[in-house]
Amino acid sequence: MSNHLDQLREELDQVNIKILELINKRGRLVKEIGDIKKSQGMKAYDPVREREMLNHIVEQHEGPFEYSTIEHLFKEIFKAAKELQEDDYQKTLLVSREKKPTDTVISVDDVSVGNGESQFVIGPCSVESQVQVDTVAQSVKEQGVNILRGGAFKPRTSPYDFQGLGEEGLKILRNSGDKYGLKVVSEITNPKDIEVGSQYLDIIQIGARNMQNFDLLKEAGKVNKPILLKRGLAATINEFINAAEYIVSQGNSDLILCERGIRTYETATRNTLDITAVPVLKQETHLPVMVDVTHSTGRRDLLLPAAKAALAVGADGVMAEVHPDPAVALSDSQQQMDIPTFKYFMEQLRQPNLTAHNI
Ligand code: PEP
Ligand code: MN
Repeated sequence: MSNHLDQLREELDQVNIKILELINKRGRLVKEIGDIKKSQGMKAYDPVREREMLNHIVEQHEGPFEYSTIEHLFKEIFKAAKELQEDDYQKTLLVSREKKPTDTVISVDDVSVGNGESQFVIGPCSVESQVQVDTVAQSVKEQGVNILRGGAFKPRTSPYDFQGLGEEGLKILRNSGDKYGLKVVSEITNPKDIEVGSQYLDIIQIGARNMQNFDLLKEAGKVNKPILLKRGLAATINEFINAAEYIVSQGNSDLILCERGIRTYETATRNTLDITAVPVLKQETHLPVMVDVTHSTGRRDLLLPAAKAALAVGADGVMAEVHPDPAVALSDSQQQMDIPTFKYFMEQLRQPNLTAHNI
């Protein structure tokens, strides 16, 4: 009895090896066919041919397996072989660590993001006036921060809310940046404004609501200007990474990713800050990663702890909103810091041993 069992097992082992040899032989044939198709400009996948092959197999089938099982097994074999035909290069994203193991550092003159030092992007939610932006810019400069933000094209939930000053807002921001020696970043929402944005800005922001505006991403991929791309309100990390790939695949590899919270069932905060997105993005991609503590939490009292968490977990920088008088701000009045609060915020974050590099 045990002799017979051993014999059957031995036979089974041999069949396994034969199947293995045949699957690999099939793989080599498919690869060769793929090369011929490629040289003739033909598509790798031919569903009509796949159906014919499946019909032919099923016609020959005698059991004991169900027809559906045989179809399923062969479809898996077809799928594996098809993957062999695809260009490996295309499967590895340009933004991936696999493609580029070293960290990408984004530099605007002497200001670098991703070089191991924490950068801050600070400024009002919306550009409202020259005086308003100048007041914040002065404080930003005093705190040793290098990058000033301010929205000129505002993506608002209600069409009746303040929509931003448009190009005039970009001019105001640029003036403040020049006056105080700061780099400036602002959101562009329309592909046709990427060009005008690149005239005034040092970094172009693409906001959460436009993370999958593919025309905007493609346009941003064509300019010679760093892009700060925010994660969409309900985007998975994979979707975020692919949005980044849209930009880089057009030729612009100066890209900063920004986690800004995602929509969940939790209502205690405006969004839920996905803090582990930072190390995931750092592992999966070679791009710098920032955290926007203002739009993620939506709560002034949580800006400091959220910023500490961001730096501790390895973020390359933090974005936060500051307004000279948040109570009268034209947007996001409940979550912006006033200037004394901002000073305290920076003092606390400058404490030693805070960044992941020191932990
Ligand atoms: C902003 O930074 O001004 C903004 C609107 O943020 P988000 O796109 O993340 O909502
Ligand atoms: Mn805002």
